[in-house]
Amino acid sequence: MKKLVYDLLPPGVCNLLNPAAIYANNEISLGDVEIYGFDYDYTLAQYSNLLHSMIFNTARDILIEQYKYPEGLGKYDYIPGFAIRGLHYDVKKSLLMKIDAFHYVQLGTAYRGLRPVPDEEVIELYGGTQHIPLYQMSDFYGKGPSLKQFMDIFSLPEMTLLSSVIDYFLAHGIEFDQIHLYKDISDAIKDVHVKGMMYQWIEKDMEKYILHGDETYAVLNRLVNHNKKLFLITNSPFSFVDKGMKHMVGKNWRDLFDMVIVQADKPNFFTDRRKPFRKLDDKGSLQWDKISQLEKGKIYKEGNLFDFLRLTGWRGSKVLYFGDHLYSDLADLMLRHGWRTGAIVPELETEIRIINTEQYMHSLTWQQALTGLLERMQMHQDAESKQVLLEWMQERQEIRSLTKNLFNPQFGSIFRTFHNPTYFSRRLVRFSDIYMASISCLLNYDVNFTFYPRRTPLQHEAPLWMDQLCTGCMKTPFLEEMVHIR
Ligand SMILES: [Mg+2]
Repeated sequence: MKKLVYDLLPPGVCNLLNPAAIYANNEISLGDVEIYGFDYDYTLAQYSNLLHSMIFNTARDILIEQYKYPEGLGKYDYIPGFAIRGLHYDVKKSLLMKIDAFHYVQLGTAYRGLRPVPDEEVIELYGGTQHIPLYQMSDFYGKGPSLKQFMDIFSLPEMTLLSSVIDYFLAHGIEFDQIHLYKDISDAIKDVHVKGMMYQWIEKDMEKYILHGDETYAVLNRLVNHNKKLFLITNSPFSFVDKGMKHMVGKNWRDLFDMVIVQADKPNFFTDRRKPFRKLDDKGSLQWDKISQLEKGKIYKEGNLFDFLRLTGWRGSKVLYFGDHLYSDLADLMLRHGWRTGAIVPELETEIRIINTEQYMHSLTWQQALTGLLERMQMHQDAESKQVLLEWMQERQEIRSLTKNLFNPQFGSIFRTFHNPTYFSRRLVRFSDIYMASISCLLNYDVNFTFYPRRTPLQHEAPLWMDQLCTGCMKTPFLEEMVHIR
């Protein structure tokens, strides 16, 4: 069987997926989209990972200097690749873990501090089950009182700092209140943003921190040349966005946009009708006049989506909004307002490169074949067969761990647990029409391109349709086929 599986993999099957492709959850034709909206941080502006260690170090030093945490914490440096996005943190149990679409912890991915917690202990902590009662412990935006989901890219340094401090306290036998600890760390990280330190670093050295600015320019310019309207809704302040956009797009960047809204306070922007828009003058100072229309070329602060829809008339599926935060940017638009949505998921690039390796292809296909054998052979209950089944199960578990470790040795892929989609994945599918590694992926498609999601068979359906294979369109444009479009 193993040989059969290997022989069935056609040569060239690796490298099949293009990390610069756009993936569709829902059919959408760009030809129908007249208005393109964008978030700023990690959507129009891609930041280098250097930012993570800066945030980590600064928040760590704030903890030591202002919150009087032990100086020994100074020995901890940022660990790139320790955490992944989408993890949940149980505050009272100090557990960082990956949860699947059915609210089960993926065993082997629960960490306290920097160390894994044995499966038996995790199960005992939740009353004899791996099931986590998310709806009791967390709210819609993953910010419940006792369980929090880390969703933005800035939370990578936060998770790593949390784990480092817990590691230090445990190693030194220091007693601590888990709730205080969580709050202090999240406040220290917030200080780095709110007090503007992060803005200063980026503004001082754009070359170092902002990536692929020329591609952002190319995307925006191309849309405007095709008569699309553009707008920006960001939580960041104007002066910061202005400097970044001047760096990426040029000093006349505002000419490309019909509407610019800063400090919008998303996700409240999408749900709270009460906050009115305020106008900023060209120097970024607040004006006090009542806003009865939104004008091109002006800058607005705060406001809310209900007024935005009323004043612009930009409703429904002719609007496509891009953001990197599934909850703050996309959830309400998808569930309440009916705009089309595009999720920016930078992790796709590295994950697809791993999926494209021969090692991944072989372990995954053999793992699935072995699972099929187990399902078929389980009725053989004589002693000898039982022994074989046991060995197969063990082998299956070994391959599953190996496959997981290819992505991240602690937590695996952000999209999958061993056999389920992750909680993050389920949210991604629910809240976005399309998803991609970066906004620049748009350059690989014609402005009237229609995305057709691949039909994946439901469990009661036979996987009969071979359309994508037959037409050579696996829904994932091949690298060489996309070269000409740019
Ligand atoms: Mg963002």
